[in-house]
Amino acid sequence: MKPFSFHSPRGLGEAVDLLERHGPGAQVIAGGQTLLLALKERLARPSALVSLAEVADLRGWRHTDSGALEIGAATTYAALAEADFRGWHAEIAAVAGDLADRPVRTMGTIGGALCAADPRFDMVTLAVALDAELDVVGAGGGRTIAAAAFFDPAGGTVLRAGEILTTVRFGPQTAFSGVAFQKFRYRVFDAALVSAVCALRLGADGAVAGARVTVGAVHPAPVLASAAAERLTGGTPTAVDTVEVGLVAADEVLPAEQATTVPRRYQRELIGVLVGRAIALADERAHTTTAHTTTAGS
Ligand SMILES: Cc1cc2nc3c(=O)[nH]c(=O)nc-3n(C[C@H](O)[C@H](O)[C@H](O)COP(=O)(O)OP(=O)(O)OC[C@H]3O[C@@H](n4cnc5c(N)ncnc54)[C@H](O)[C@@H]3O)c2cc1C
Repeated sequence: MKPFSFHSPRGLGEAVDLLERHGPGAQVIAGGQTLLLALKERLARPSALVSLAEVADLRGWRHTDSGALEIGAATTYAALAEADFRGWHAEIAAVAGDLADRPVRTMGTIGGALCAADPRFDMVTLAVALDAELDVVGAGGGRTIAAAAFFDPAGGTVLRAGEILTTVRFGPQTAFSGVAFQKFRYRVFDAALVSAVCALRLGADGAVAGARVTVGAVHPAPVLASAAAERLTGGTPTAVDTVEVGLVAADEVLPAEQATTVPRRYQRELIGVLVGRAIALADERAHTTTAHTTTAGS
């Protein structure tokens, strides 16, 4: 392993300064769950590592005045899994609590997963699916990037050298009525073979006013299945619809002519099944939440 210096700044400003001072060879380390493997396999050869472990500002979460949920990039899955998030935000905590194993959840962070940009990582798909905004900061200042634009369709992210992801912002409760994440993995600690998310917003008449259907782990970046989402909009999903829309998503994300190998054909089957399940569950949750809201308000 190539020698590197290790730095443990106490604040974000210091971390940004260190990255600038050490130049393009410097790299952030958060929980190390991806980066340490890359170092061992010599896929990463940093000259300096800047740890986020002591940067307290990047841990935890808060709700803004508008009800958005802002999560610090260095917040661990274990902390998120215990969060008492309400409504559809609860799916973020549920996903964090159901991935990998306890050691990975204890060390791994939401920001590390997004910056590693492995399409099989659950938070990558979830962030795109839920239209999260990502705040990043570097020596040249800060910027906010929509999750769908953060991931390069060819793989990786649009982060520039020296930039740090600081915050992952999810919209307020009004953004969606029901959200469901589904994935298939062989073993409990395996990454997803396919993941799918459906996020529905119901109108006052109970019909779907807006939908997002997202498929992960199939291509280098998550894919928004817009034709599938369109099919849901304006209606009320039935059991028949969920199967049909799942097939629309499969055709959109991995058409039959591209699914020529056995693993690809299997992924195509899984897209249909998981999208269908995600729609049914999101719809059920949307109606449960609406019912609760009505009861609580009446
Ligand atoms: C055994 C095992 C099983 C796993 N199973 C799953 C699974 O089922 N589902 C799943 O989703 N994931 C799974 N993972 C992956 C896991 O989610 C990631 O390894 C972890 O989230 C990465 O976060 P980290 O904090 O450890 O990042 P690190 O490893 O510290 O960093 C990863 C990359 O991101 C960069 N980086 C980190 N934080 C920032 C930041 N704030 N700003 C800029 N750059 C940054 C680093 O420079 C590095 O390039 C598994 C991992 C392991 C080892």
